[in-house]
Amino acid sequence: MREQFEVRDSDAGGRIGELTVPRAGVTVETPALMPVVNPNIVTIEPSRMADEFGAEIIITNSYIIKTTDGLEADAREQGLHDLLDFDGAIVTDSGSFQLAEYGEIDTNTEDILQFQHEIGSDIGTPVDIPTPPDVSHERAESELRTTQERLELAETIDVGDMLVNAPVQGSTHVDLREEAGAHAAATDLDVFPVGAVVPLLNDYRYDEMVDVVAASKRGLSRDCPVHLFGAGHPMMFALAVAMGCDLFDSAAYALYARDGRYLTVDGTEHVEELDYMPCSCPVCVDETPASLRAMDDRDREEALAAHNLHVTFAEMRTIKQAIRDGDLMELVERRARAHPAMLDGYRALTDHAAQLEETDPASKGSFFYLSNESAARPEVVRHHERLDRLSPSGEVLLTEGDHSSDYDESWPVVPPFGPFPKALRNTYPLTAEMPSRLDRDAYEAAASGVARLADVNSDTSFTLAHEDWPESALALVPESVTVENLWRGER
Ligand SMILES: [Zn+2]
Repeated sequence: MREQFEVRDSDAGGRIGELTVPRAGVTVETPALMPVVNPNIVTIEPSRMADEFGAEIIITNSYIIKTTDGLEADAREQGLHDLLDFDGAIVTDSGSFQLAEYGEIDTNTEDILQFQHEIGSDIGTPVDIPTPPDVSHERAESELRTTQERLELAETIDVGDMLVNAPVQGSTHVDLREEAGAHAAATDLDVFPVGAVVPLLNDYRYDEMVDVVAASKRGLSRDCPVHLFGAGHPMMFALAVAMGCDLFDSAAYALYARDGRYLTVDGTEHVEELDYMPCSCPVCVDETPASLRAMDDRDREEALAAHNLHVTFAEMRTIKQAIRDGDLMELVERRARAHPAMLDGYRALTDHAAQLEETDPASKGSFFYLSNESAARPEVVRHHERLDRLSPSGEVLLTEGDHSSDYDESWPVVPPFGPFPKALRNTYPLTAEMPSRLDRDAYEAAASGVARLADVNSDTSFTLAHEDWPESALALVPESVTVENLWRGER
């Protein structure tokens, strides 16, 4: 067990946790946002991030500090916390990003971890190899071996009570990602960044990002805090949290601001094109698009960066409340409507419903069926698995209508779940709030439930009485089941 990470609450694959960072003497509540601080270009002071935005943890780059004249000496002399003026937890990256960008760097794992320790970092990082998407399996595997050697080396370096990142690589090869996760979890390192997903996010390949994270999570254990490295747009936080990501770093708040871009949970606006402020953070209450445009560049950049941070932190609070309320999947479902690629991401998430189901609470407040994708949620998967263990006998009526004493047993049927014993009628998720105009996927999921029950109880005689299900659903019902359409007076 990793004692420094404790999960307090979960919903789907998402969790609220506590990451204890001993060197900083703080406990960070996750999911957490780590604003990226570039020590050479500070847009918003780290102390302001703590006071105004509630930042508990930030991330900076030790390689930039180490290779910038003046900064290195200041960091060694004052320590990182005084240098940046931040009392919370400080994570340092190692230069792996620069390695990926420029092909070589002037440090190695041993050297950079010692440097991070010396300047007072709370969570340090070895030099891993961030293998980009779409490379050959051979290259991804060979680079992964190098990353794994460096994690093993990192274990042997004495860094006191500084926590150490164990990046998970493997490009877009899910077998390698899973293996990398298992290897990293088996080390005694502490925090687990899923690396090199930025090119996927930049290209809106959210479905592949989900597959990469799901594979990494299969290898990692539940006590591993997971950092989705480089994912800073609030639009995709809910999706990533539902996959089981706990830490996010945002350079986006500052980079986008420099470009005049304004973040929202639905995407990105450009300040030149805004007529209204679609936000009520302090910046947007005080300013108008015209007043922002009239500012000098430096002031506008700072104002936009502050707005960007406000929406980013607000989204993290919205997500945590959704986990507490048990409606994280409903939030993901709403956010998925922001962009077609986000919808692909959400649909990919439901491909992993069985994996999410493992940590999904058995009982929550309510299940809102909001779109056809709801038919593939973890709760539906769990109900279908439960059907495998139920054994009604004799003549059994499965019905959307009235129950009948002509049968040995009579079970209700509710799309998208399918049949269930009457005694479960008032239990989650069978109390789901459904639209009255249902879609095909709901009926098909219910029909799959009927098929599942019939398949494991081949000696039982089933009759399905349905309210005019579409042909595509009825086609999934096995021939051994007698089918009656209640709407056509067949009963
Ligand atoms: Zn705002």
